[in-house]
Amino acid sequence: MSVVASYINNIVSGVKSTLVGMRITGKYFLKKPITVQYPDERLPIPNRYRGIHYLEQEKCINCLACARACPVDCIEMDAVRHGKELEWVKFTIDYQKCMFCELCVYPCPKDCIHMGNEFAFVTTDRSELHHDLLSYKGMSREARIRKREAEEKKKKKAAAKAAKAAKEAQAAETEGDPPQPTEGEA
Ligand code: SF4
Ligand code: SF4
Repeated sequence: MSVVASYINNIVSGVKSTLVGMRITGKYFLKKPITVQYPDERLPIPNRYRGIHYLEQEKCINCLACARACPVDCIEMDAVRHGKELEWVKFTIDYQKCMFCELCVYPCPKDCIHMGNEFAFVTTDRSELHHDLLSYKGMSREARIRKREAEEKKKKKAAAKAAKAAKEAQAAETEGDPPQPTEGEA
């Protein structure tokens, strides 16, 4: 093969291999980009994704069923009961231990603990992985109102009962009095 023919052959071979190499690039070049600018943009998360838990605190009755079901004992909770109302102290999950198995969700009688779709939990401080699910501490405003109304009702009931007892005692006293002498008898 002459030098010129070899030269042309090399050029053709170079162009051909470049085209083969660029075939996949060209295919994706024409498609819509799938890269998202996380964290400003996020891909949709499947409905059954098991992310960081969330609690519907108003529905929770502090029954401990979720904590008992947890295989790694990472749920802790504390609340003070005032009659039917709860004063919340804590409801924590230790995400250093949690394995996102969802076993705490199924036994809940009130269906109030759920696996959320939040997953970003980056920290350099391990104590922050001990996460409190409470959205408020103490009693909710509604619970405080309900408690106050129940107490007022109780007080009214007790006062009515005391008044009734006093009335009955007075009536008994009047019935027991000796008859007063009339003028002619005196
Ligand atoms: S997801 Fe599993 S490990 Fe995590 S708190 Fe619930 S039961 Fe425990
Ligand atoms: S099982 Fe449900 S109701 Fe009971 S303490 Fe856990 S979250 Fe609350």
